[in-house]
Amino acid sequence: MSLDTLPPLREVLAQHGLDPKKALGQNFLLDLNLTGKIARQALPLEGETVVEIGPGPGGLTRALLAHGASRVVAVEKDPRCLSALADISAHYPGRLEVVEADALKVDLAALAGGPFKVVANLPYNVGTQILLDLVAAPSWPPLWSELVLMFQKEVAQRIVALENDPHFGRLGVLCGWRTEAHILFDVPPAAFTPPPKVTSSVVRLVPRPAPLPAELATLEKVTAAAFGQRRKMLRQSLKSLGGEALLGRAGIDPQRRAETLSVPEFVSLANLL
Ligand code: SAM
Repeated sequence: MSLDTLPPLREVLAQHGLDPKKALGQNFLLDLNLTGKIARQALPLEGETVVEIGPGPGGLTRALLAHGASRVVAVEKDPRCLSALADISAHYPGRLEVVEADALKVDLAALAGGPFKVVANLPYNVGTQILLDLVAAPSWPPLWSELVLMFQKEVAQRIVALENDPHFGRLGVLCGWRTEAHILFDVPPAAFTPPPKVTSSVVRLVPRPAPLPAELATLEKVTAAAFGQRRKMLRQSLKSLGGEALLGRAGIDPQRRAETLSVPEFVSLANLL
């Protein structure tokens, strides 16, 4: 199935000399059926601004536009991709803005300029940091209404993990506190050019309208200490933050380990600090 009348992505890569660069996490999706499937996870797109991080040759960008996104703001670090993206822009006049920048150094909400969704096949080396920056938005609910993001499966499992799951850790606490996060589907290595070593997963996060009140910095402090020594009992791992006394005030058994604490329990510890 073709989503538009633009050339197949393999031709785009050849035409614009886009040899994938490992340092930029360039594992491209060239199958428009798959990019269409990812874009559909963020429906409805009509009337929406979508921020895409790392559009590369534009497979997902094309799918977002073909599925009705009113405006796509695509942030790409690799200048080699710009001419391919300009062709997409010409095909969808006035709907695609390409920003040549490092996504870690720009304010995505400011680029969107209003409510937005984020849909991206993220570069693996910066994906977690981009997610943490979005979840750490200074005011809540944030300007973004939904994130549909591709991660390495192992990272996706950590994002959605809650207590008593071996993948539960700092990412699970922060994402579980402010969002509802689910893995939508896995994507095998063979779907990418070049194939990465590991399976990937598409994750959807939506903001919780009213997360339990807590200060992000304090919550991070407790989480870092608790999971820094995840095999130890909390009375030991939280010693520098008040240990047994702190746990006693929160009504938490000091013999428990970090992995068994719920997000509300982490929040109550943070609020007692
Ligand atoms: N979206 C395309 C696709 O699905 O085929 C490309 C995805 S590829 C996994 C990651 C993309 O992110 C590449 O195009 C890469 O150049 C870009 N990229 C890497 N680091 C970046 C950064 N710090 N800021 C913005 N883009 C970045």
